[in-house]
Amino acid sequence: MEFRPGQLSLDDLHGPRTLDELREGMADCRGCGLAAGRTNLVFGEGNPRARLMLIGEGPGAEEDRLGRPFVGPAGQLLDKILAAAGISRSEVYIANVVKCRPPGNRVPNREEAAACLHWLRKQFALIAPPLVVILGSTALKNLIDPQASITAWRGRWITRGRVRFMPTYHPAALLRDPSKKRDVWRDFQAVRDAYREIVPLKNE
Ligand code: SF4
Repeated sequence: MEFRPGQLSLDDLHGPRTLDELREGMADCRGCGLAAGRTNLVFGEGNPRARLMLIGEGPGAEEDRLGRPFVGPAGQLLDKILAAAGISRSEVYIANVVKCRPPGNRVPNREEAAACLHWLRKQFALIAPPLVVILGSTALKNLIDPQASITAWRGRWITRGRVRFMPTYHPAALLRDPSKKRDVWRDFQAVRDAYREIVPLKNE
């Protein structure tokens, strides 16, 4: 299924009307083989009216254990980056391309991502964020272009309809290669500036 951000399909219009309804509807999803290995399905979390959404690859061990996105070491680093940009985690929405943990934290394959993407599209349609941070290669390939390279595409806004996407490295990549931190910080500064145009600080 194509992601088609910013466009609603009939399915979206007749589907769940809240994130809670959507979560309920997917609780027992067996749409791909990843269902067999999960401890918890990781739906996503955050502000249902967020103006900024962050989309990563899939749950890791800690996320699978707790049923929450970005709570392991990469998530803790993401929290620090957001805090440095003056954005609290509670004001954004965080989700992944696949909702169940791939074994051994491998990259989800094309079939798994394709099977899961309709859930993300519904989530996206309900939240309707104008800004999205794409965290890493898997999200970039599945949301924007299967041929895209995160190294080549990071740091540049991509506009699709009324939505602007900023691709950057996944925080797990920063843990493996801290030299990427400077680029990510630059990307998040651009995100912060765009976000503050939409959601000004209260004392401004
Ligand atoms: S990864 Fe997505 S499609 Fe596959 S079982 Fe989990 S929720 Fe369903």
